[in-house]
Amino acid sequence: MKFLANKERGNMDCLFCKIAKKEIPSSVVAETDNLLAFRDIEPQAPVHILIIPKKHISSTKELSKLNVEILGEMALLASEICKQENIEDGNRWIINTGAEGGQTVFHIHLHILGGRTMQWPPG
Ligand code: AMP
Ligand code: ZN
Repeated sequence: MKFLANKERGNMDCLFCKIAKKEIPSSVVAETDNLLAFRDIEPQAPVHILIIPKKHISSTKELSKLNVEILGEMALLASEICKQENIEDGNRWIINTGAEGGQTVFHIHLHILGGRTMQWPPG
């Protein structure tokens, strides 16, 4: 049996890795070589989409010079999706980090929210 590093073993249990590999179904709105965008299962606004890298990165804490370019790809795709969903003039992008930051799935993801008036500060 192939030796698996702890990090790889962790990924096997990661919900968003499974969604990225289409092992768990999701409502896909866009896909690129490196990214998948799908509708949030518990939408907090009329439009609520998540963008994930296909490669596992657990949170913003794991960003480094080696992988930070993915964030730019996520931003460009988010911008395209906002146009596609007709929310380009009013939307909110969120990345939660850590339990206290509201992160519940430890595979980095960008929330895109739109279709209603947003409040500030968020809860
Ligand atoms: P966060 O709290 O920032 O980690 O966001 C995790 C998000 O994933 C929440 O908004 C959940 O509603 C969403 N979510 C959890 N499971 C699924 C799923 N199977 N398909 C789509 N979205 C999900
Ligand atoms: Zn993952």
